[in-house]
Amino acid sequence: MRYTENEVMEFVRENEVKFIRLAFCDLFGAQKNISITAEELPRAFAGGISFDASAIEGFLNVDRSDLFLFPEPDTLAVLPWRPGRGRAARLFCEIRHPDGSPFEGDGRYLLKKACARAREMGYLCQIGPECEFYLFELDEKGNPTTLPIDTAGYLDVAPADRGENIRRDICLTLEEMGIVPESFHHEQGPGQNEIDFRYSDALTAADQVVTFKGAVRTMAAQNGMFASFLPKPMLDCAGSGFHINMSLSKDGRNIFQNGGGRHCPEAEGFLAGILARVREITAILNPLTNSYRRFGAFEAPRYITWSHSNRSQLIRIPAVTGEYARLELRSPDPACNPYFAFALLIHAGLDGVGQGLALPAACEHDLYRAGETLLAAYERLPADLGEALDLLEQSELARRVLPADTIAKFLSAKRRAQAANLRAEDPFGLEHRTDFL
Ligand code: GLU
Ligand code: MG
Ligand code: MG
Repeated sequence: MRYTENEVMEFVRENEVKFIRLAFCDLFGAQKNISITAEELPRAFAGGISFDASAIEGFLNVDRSDLFLFPEPDTLAVLPWRPGRGRAARLFCEIRHPDGSPFEGDGRYLLKKACARAREMGYLCQIGPECEFYLFELDEKGNPTTLPIDTAGYLDVAPADRGENIRRDICLTLEEMGIVPESFHHEQGPGQNEIDFRYSDALTAADQVVTFKGAVRTMAAQNGMFASFLPKPMLDCAGSGFHINMSLSKDGRNIFQNGGGRHCPEAEGFLAGILARVREITAILNPLTNSYRRFGAFEAPRYITWSHSNRSQLIRIPAVTGEYARLELRSPDPACNPYFAFALLIHAGLDGVGQGLALPAACEHDLYRAGETLLAAYERLPADLGEALDLLEQSELARRVLPADTIAKFLSAKRRAQAANLRAEDPFGLEHRTDFL
């Protein structure tokens, strides 16, 4: 359902919505919001609602700190977990300077620009995110423990699987918010779950990821659990990935559909473009110290390779045809800012299409069992956050897509976090407790 401003106001009146959350994300993908009452909504549409951008990490400095939130009517969703009387609804916002120009560090704005470039080249990029997460028990004070809620494994059923009720709650909540859950299951790790929802255009998909994480955290809290999107919360168990499925359509036809086993050159160029740039944007796709503990085991990639169905590889072209034909990028993790991630990936892919990049040969080996000589032939993802940040700093792509100030603020915040982790006695605990991205 896509709403106009008038339709939003009508919806608000008819459904007795009292509170409106004006939502956006900070540099790191953490959701922020200001609430206004329904009566203030016309003012918000007309002139925006101001906030102190110097208090949002990575936005502006104190000397020039006012930014304005302009709600986008077609992102309306009720918050089903809030009370029925005095209902609350949420709108994602455009962020603008006092003179009306867009705030360049806003991930939604950057992603819109990436989608516009795709459109100019004749493509629509659609994205289907798959987000895994762990559920942990709370202690008597309500703080998260490191004890998963069950000991079940991949596709297990109740009673071993203790996530069935909360997955049900999450799916019902998502539906009420206009997101279509498609499939959900217990993942490999104890207490690990996955819920996949239907693909959409890149901007909607990124908004939905943010909504999804909020809904999961809220449902977990309501069920007396802690939802963790940490990439590797338990060292000996599977990590949590954030697989990004991408397709491109031209004239209404998905160009990842392969005729006679071959992909069209544009689809190959798109994939090759991502392979060529993935190292330099890994700090955005995998932004925590903890992210780098996930690579190279439990179906998470380490080498820069692609294949058709091998899950040890970075990019997979799953064995499906028709509408669902796509590439699946397997390195990102749920701690990333989906707007920055999607924007950079779309630009990387489009660069590949524009340059007619040739796709390297598929790698059909199981890379977890391959010997040193074979592995030496392949480039690796960065080994740690430090290496990834250095690569980001040098990245031509990042400099072209993200404002210089945004990159500088991202690098300095991440280097500070990395230093704090090095000092901490228990770096895992630090990231676990502060995992609210
Ligand atoms: N949990 C794995 C990861 O860390 C992915 C498993 C799967 O293919 O769903 O990426
Ligand atoms: Mg999975
Ligand atoms: Mg997957």
